Amino acid sequence: MARTTTQFVCSACGAVYKKWAGHCEACGGWNTIHEEAALSASGPAKKTLGASRGKGMALSSLAETEAPLPRTVSGIGELDRVLGGGLVPASVVLVGGDPGIGKSTLLLQAAAAFAGAGVKTIYVSGEEAAGQVRMRAQRLGLGAAPVSLAAETNLRDILTTLDAERPGFVIIDSIQTMWADHVESAPGSVSQVRAASHELTSFAKRRGISVVLVGHVTKDGQIAGPRVIEHMVDTVLYFEGERGHQYRILRAVKNRFGPADEIGVFEMTGAGLAEVLNPSELFLSERDRPASGSVVFAGIEGTRPLLVEIQALVAPSTLATPRRQTVGWDGGRLSMILAVLEARCGVTFGGLDVYLNVAGGMRVSEPAADLAVAAAILSSRQDVPIPTDTVVFGEISLSGALRPVSQADQRLKEAAKLGFAAAIAPSQMKLQGESGITVQRIDDLAGFVETTFGAVE
Ligand SMILES: [Zn+2]
Repeated sequence: MARTTTQFVCSACGAVYKKWAGHCEACGGWNTIHEEAALSASGPAKKTLGASRGKGMALSSLAETEAPLPRTVSGIGELDRVLGGGLVPASVVLVGGDPGIGKSTLLLQAAAAFAGAGVKTIYVSGEEAAGQVRMRAQRLGLGAAPVSLAAETNLRDILTTLDAERPGFVIIDSIQTMWADHVESAPGSVSQVRAASHELTSFAKRRGISVVLVGHVTKDGQIAGPRVIEHMVDTVLYFEGERGHQYRILRAVKNRFGPADEIGVFEMTGAGLAEVLNPSELFLSERDRPASGSVVFAGIEGTRPLLVEIQALVAPSTLATPRRQTVGWDGGRLSMILAVLEARCGVTFGGLDVYLNVAGGMRVSEPAADLAVAAAILSSRQDVPIPTDTVVFGEISLSGALRPVSQADQRLKEAAKLGFAAAIAPSQMKLQGESGITVQRIDDLAGFVETTFGAVE
C-alpha cells in the first residue's frame, strides 16, 4: 500500500489537515492552509523501539542541588530583564514581531552588547546583504563592535560554519529565509521553518551555543509565522508597538529560564532603541489636568508594577449597531464590562459608541484593569473626571462584585513613587504594608457607580 505523503498545514498555527480548506478551524485564519510534503514518508517502523535494547539512562534524585544558570548579561537592562536575567548558554530564543518594527535593530544592538561583554557573536542575515547590515550598524554607532557578519540562507553551510567557528551567540535573521536542503518545500513553508528551527535548536543544545531566531509575524498566510515554532524553543519574545509610535515593548510570552509576561520597554531614537528606565512615567507623560474618560490603571507586567493611562470615549452613535472599539485591550472583555454595567448598575449604552484606548501603544491583558476600564467609560459617559492623583484597579465579576487582585502592595507603592495620593480598589484586598496612599475600598461596581458618579441615568 502506498502511503500518502502530502498533508495540508496551516501556516499561521501549524494545524494539520487531511484535505485542503479555505478556513483554519484551529486559529480562524482564512486562506492560510497549504499543501506540504509530510516530514516522514517512510511509514511506521517495522519493530517497536523496545524490541532491541537501548542504553540505561542515568537517573538522579530531586534532592540534588542545582548550580544557578550561568547567564551572560548584555548590559541592555530591559533586554536582560525580559530574558529572565541574561542569556543562558545552549538556549534558543525566538523573537517575533511585525516586519519593520525594529527587530533587526534591537538584535544588532544586542549582538554588539554581547560581543562587547566578551561573547563570540555571529549575525547571520538571510534578509539583507552583509553591506546593508554593516551600514545599519554604523548608523547605530556600532561599527567597531566585534560582531562577525554573514549573509546566507543555506542551513547546511551555516551549521558547518558555526561548527568551525564555535561562537557563543548566534542571531539568525530571519528563520523564514532559512533553507534546509533535506526538506522538499519552499523556504518560508511550515515544513522548512520547522526543520530549520529543529536543526538550529539541536545544534544549540549540542554545542552549548545561544541562538536567537528572528520570526516575522506574517499577515497573508503565504509564509509560516513564528507561532509554528513556539513549542520548539526555550524562550518566546514578541516585539510589539505601533509603527507610528516611538515606543516598543519586548514581551516574554514563554520562558523556560525566567518569568513569562515580563516586558522590556524601549524608545526608538535616531541612534537605535534606547531603554526606558521608568516606563510608568512614559505611559503617563501627557497627563496634567483632569479630563473625563481618562483613568490611571495600576498594573503589573511580569514582575514589575506599571502604571498606564486608560482612555475611553462614549459618544452618541448614528449607527443602528453602535461601535465598540478597543486599542490595547480585549474587545470581548469590553463587551462583558458594558453588560455588567447595564445589568447590575442600570447604566445603559444603547445608542452610544464606546471607544477604549490604552495610551502609549501599550497592551493590557490583566483582568485587574476591569475597574479602571469601567471607571474610564463611566467618567466619559457622565463627563465627570476621575481625580488626576488617583489610580484604579480591581477585577469585575459577572455578578458585579469586585474581586481582589494580586500584588496590591506593589501597585500602590509604584503609584506612591510617582506622586499619586489615592487609589480606588476592591475592599477584600489584603495589604501587607503601608504605602502612604489613601485607599477607597469598593465592594461592588454598583457601589462604585453611586459613590463616584451619583445617580446615573
Ligand atoms: Zn491555523
